[in-house]
Amino acid sequence: MSAHVKVREREKLTLAEEIEELTGINSLKCYQCGKCSAGCPVRVFMKVPPNKVVRFVQLGLEDEALRSETIWMCAGCLTCSTRCPQNFDLAKFMDALKEIAIKKGVISKDDILKFHKAFLKQVEANGKAFEFGLIRDYKLATFNIFQDLDIAPEMFFKGKIKLFSHRIKDRDKIKKIFDRCKE
Ligand code: SF4
Ligand code: SF4
Repeated sequence: MSAHVKVREREKLTLAEEIEELTGINSLKCYQCGKCSAGCPVRVFMKVPPNKVVRFVQLGLEDEALRSETIWMCAGCLTCSTRCPQNFDLAKFMDALKEIAIKKGVISKDDILKFHKAFLKQVEANGKAFEFGLIRDYKLATFNIFQDLDIAPEMFFKGKIKLFSHRIKDRDKIKKIFDRCKE
């Protein structure tokens, strides 16, 4: 089969097929019980619950799934994946949707992508999240200098924001994961 034909076939993949190719997850495995959304710690901030994003994919509603803010609000905490009676790895599913949304350039808000990149930059550099660096990079990228500034002192005095990062020992292993993803 020529490369041209292969590219054409790839272009024709449905979103569900693309996700399955990336993650091995079959979207139809989810039977919409809603247990994932019931336990999701950030569900309260989402307009669309996580299980409904899966439903969008099942129904072929690509735009609704990829433009949903839910996929960017997902904190990747794995609560849903561990609660699911179908062993549906929803956290991985959300990651795949983010990756596809970036690839296709269909992101609902530019700031969300900037936040995502600032977060990943800190994880790559430190091996874990570093809130001060994340806030600094996000604000520099968006010029939203005063956004949420009022809660900064409280977070600082409660020890939620440290001025210096604590890097993990085996940062090289994290770096290798990032290098593999970039390839
Ligand atoms: S818990 Fe699992 S099966 Fe139930 S809605 Fe969520 S992903 Fe689907
Ligand atoms: S991984 Fe995402 S969708 Fe699942 S429970 Fe955590 S925040 Fe919610």
